[in-house]
Amino acid sequence: MKQLRGRILLFFLAVFGVFSIIFFYISSNVFVQQGLEQQGEDLKAQLVTLQSQLNDTIDSEQDLEELMTGLEKAAEAVSERITLIDLSGNVIYDSHADQDMVENHLDRPEIQSILNGDGISTYDRVSTSTEDLRYYTAAPLLSTEGETVGILRLSKRVEEMTGVTEELIRFLLVFIATSLLLTVLFTYYWTRRIGDPIEEIKQITNKLSHQKYGTRYRSASYHEIDDLGETINDLAGNLESQMQEIKQNDKRMRELINHLVIGVMVLNENREITMVNPIMNEILGENLYGKIGHSYLEVFKSYGLNRLIEAAFEKNELQNREISLFLQDERIVDTNIVPIPGRIQGTTNFIVLLYDITEIRRLERVRTDFVANASHELRTPITALKGFSETLLDGALEDREVLVEFLEIMLKESSRLDLMVQDILQLSKLEQKQVRMNVESIEAKSVVKEVFQILQQKAELKEMELSIINHENVSLEVDHDQLKQIILNLVGNAVSYTPEKGKVEVEMTYLNQEAVIKIRDNGIGIPQQEQSRIFERFYRVDKARSRNAGGTGLGLSIVKYLVENLNGHIELVSEVGKGTMFEVYLPIIFENPSSQRR
Ligand code: ADP
Repeated sequence: MKQLRGRILLFFLAVFGVFSIIFFYISSNVFVQQGLEQQGEDLKAQLVTLQSQLNDTIDSEQDLEELMTGLEKAAEAVSERITLIDLSGNVIYDSHADQDMVENHLDRPEIQSILNGDGISTYDRVSTSTEDLRYYTAAPLLSTEGETVGILRLSKRVEEMTGVTEELIRFLLVFIATSLLLTVLFTYYWTRRIGDPIEEIKQITNKLSHQKYGTRYRSASYHEIDDLGETINDLAGNLESQMQEIKQNDKRMRELINHLVIGVMVLNENREITMVNPIMNEILGENLYGKIGHSYLEVFKSYGLNRLIEAAFEKNELQNREISLFLQDERIVDTNIVPIPGRIQGTTNFIVLLYDITEIRRLERVRTDFVANASHELRTPITALKGFSETLLDGALEDREVLVEFLEIMLKESSRLDLMVQDILQLSKLEQKQVRMNVESIEAKSVVKEVFQILQQKAELKEMELSIINHENVSLEVDHDQLKQIILNLVGNAVSYTPEKGKVEVEMTYLNQEAVIKIRDNGIGIPQQEQSRIFERFYRVDKARSRNAGGTGLGLSIVKYLVENLNGHIELVSEVGKGTMFEVYLPIIFENPSSQRR
């Protein structure tokens, strides 16, 4: 911008300088010319006055010398050179030169002009007598007879005549110099007034191009420049808000991607990883942030997945398949490879989406297993019922003893069938969330006592002791029926799987905002390797024993489901031959998970 200012300044100086020189040249010439003309006219007037004074004072050319005294007097009064010349060109009198030394003036143009009959003549030329540039004016001198008897000439140095003019020129020079100075100052001020805001605008646009959108034009200049500045400000404002929107969208997008339950990975056209989200790390069990910029082949070790990615790159179209990844454990992922336009025009990037459906598939398997198991489990009592009733109809009916025995078996089997159907129905109702929860503050001890009452008879038959071993009043927010069901199943199992004369103890305490209910027996215990599976549906350690005890294999599944539904968890400590302890942890204050999520 300084360069531009310099150029403008130089341009104005050059233009003004050239015009000043031309103006000075023309006007000084005009002044000189006018001064000369004016002084010439004055000289002529003086000549005419002198002529009129001297005319008619002599009779002939010979008397010219008589005029000398008068001329000398006149010469004293004026500074002009007065010359008197006779008709032959001889100088009779010259106020500025010795007439005897002066050469004949006949050839002088102003003399020739008078001799040729002109009334007055003027010339400016270099004087041979005084050797300076002079202005000459000559007029004839008339005798009393009216004849030309001599020539009177006045002359003045041109330098003298233009003396005033030179002052004018000096004044002109001062005027031009002052104007030039003012021009420089004005141009400097003006270029600054225009240049500085333009410089500011340039800097703003520069900053905008470097994404500094907070910058604004603040100078006040000519309104055209201010308008431009305002437009730049509008532009900056728009860019700033657009950039904010882009950043916000980007942030939202990142948040969304980071909280997606689907693993996301972006691959560029060179098959390098450019982005991953946390779930992708979780699915692959590896921190992939360090792998950004690396080939996907360093990360995915699955042949199926790699083939799918390669197929997407080759065909340049979406690929979808369910793939099993064998990491620490098997993971089933629904895989989508989606093409998206790359940053470089004409290239394609790919988003690898992995949706972990291991749990879904497991649940599906559990369900199908459940149907198969349930059918199988139901078939046993049904087959028994069918077999015994057929045998009875085939003739055993007649034998009263056999009849009673068979009917007792049939009653037992149908009770088991009933129990099993009830448990299956309860589980399916729980899973379909058909059981309404009626949460209220409940004292755990009262529920345990209710359960003891129900199981009292069964325990007495086995001469077993049911006891509450602590006296802490544990109360919690829970659905009464569900808590009762949990304790009933657990204490029921404890009674079932503990030999005669054994004991079952229930202990209730608080631990870290949770109520803990421990059901302990000194029964047969559960082998270590079976402990992880006993909560599975229909899973029983010893099928015959369970059946004899009237078990369905669903009791603990129901317990686990109910406990988790109440935001709690269940732990198991057991040793074969020594006994088993189930610990149920339930929150003291129940928070509905659906209301939590809101
Ligand atoms: P069941 O109706 O057979 O009792 P559950 O689901 O209640 O079914 O229990 C599953 C299996 O866990 C039982 O068959 C039994 O083998 C084992 N079990 C449960 N509770 C105990 C316990 N207190 N002591 C020993 N084994 C137990």
